Amino acid sequence: MGDLWYNKSMKVLAIESSCDETAAAVVEDGVRILNNVVVSQIDIFAEYGGVIPEVAARSHLEAILPVIHKALGDAELTMDDIDVIAVTHTPGLLGSLLIGTLTARMLAILWKKPLFAVHHLKSHIYANWLGREEVKECVIPEFPLVALVVSGGHTQIIYMQEHNKFEIIGTTRDDAVGECFDKVAKVLGLPYPGGPSIAECARRGDAKKFKLPHPQVEGLDFSFSGLKTAVLRAVQAELGVPINTPSFELAEKLTEQQQADFAASFQETACEILLEKLKIALRDHPEARSVVIAGGVSANAVLREKVAEELLGGSGTKMDKTDDLKTRELRVFFPEKRFAGDNAAMVGVAAYYEMLVGVEPTDPYALDIAPRSVIG
Ligand code: AMP
Ligand code: MG
Repeated sequence: MGDLWYNKSMKVLAIESSCDETAAAVVEDGVRILNNVVVSQIDIFAEYGGVIPEVAARSHLEAILPVIHKALGDAELTMDDIDVIAVTHTPGLLGSLLIGTLTARMLAILWKKPLFAVHHLKSHIYANWLGREEVKECVIPEFPLVALVVSGGHTQIIYMQEHNKFEIIGTTRDDAVGECFDKVAKVLGLPYPGGPSIAECARRGDAKKFKLPHPQVEGLDFSFSGLKTAVLRAVQAELGVPINTPSFELAEKLTEQQQADFAASFQETACEILLEKLKIALRDHPEARSVVIAGGVSANAVLREKVAEELLGGSGTKMDKTDDLKTRELRVFFPEKRFAGDNAAMVGVAAYYEMLVGVEPTDPYALDIAPRSVIG
């Protein structure tokens, strides 16, 4: 840890607007959430079956100041109580990022507060440090750790030797896993966002009904576009229609049972692929002490079960003494469900750990956005 430039309790006002959630939170000392407000645009985009960037930016513009007011007001705080402002500046939708960063820059300039610009994937990883103050032992991830980041735009395995040090050791070569959930949901006629609706529908389905391929990608990289196409072809084959039948004509032909069986088989395969790579990463890094799952797809119950079963031996099952991963003293972390999707509390905690390791605040007059960037 570097020298600290502050020496008292630290309240961070954090702002997140990288996609279709407008969010603000106040986080104290990287762990106590004084308030966490998230306004989602899901209802708007459910109608369109996906996010429309210009509409998202306009919605952020309407929501951002009321959301910040609420975050402060409900916690009975004013800007005078805030020590630091943090905001997501990369990656994300251009217009969406602009609304959050311009608001944060304005507040930092007007109120003369230090400003921290945070990478969105960093925040998703740090969501695993949140909300554990009630745990007496203060169970937080220990380093070195392996993080599996699974979201709508990213699928990566990241090695962290210590706080704020990120090494990407695996990444998707095409689609992200969350995107794959969303696209498969469309083929099956399930509502946006696809992840939760596939998970819900899959509960009535048979996960072994359709055999879907695991992509043969070397090392720790992923590929999910093939799985999406494999589901499309399997649906066409099951319905007995030619492969040039457009995907939007398929859903209405599926019975409820077929829809559920496809949802369950796809979910099972996607989670197996994630777990296969995570296990290779852990074997490559025998010194890793924790596993951290991050991003919207980390809310998935089947993924949570599989990770617990494969890495911890599962609840109630006998420990397999021959399995090197199960006998290792690994700690496995998932964010609380309310912190799995986009929120600002995770931005506040990520900024806090940047401060702890001595990262300097950014210049509010110069802060720019970057729709695409890698973590680092
Ligand atoms: P993020 O990009 O981190 O905001 O996460 C959004 C992505 O997570 C979207 O692609 C969602 O479909 C996906 N997602 C959300 N909940 C679940 C779930 N329970 N199972 C699978 N994917 C999910
Ligand atoms: Mg996200």
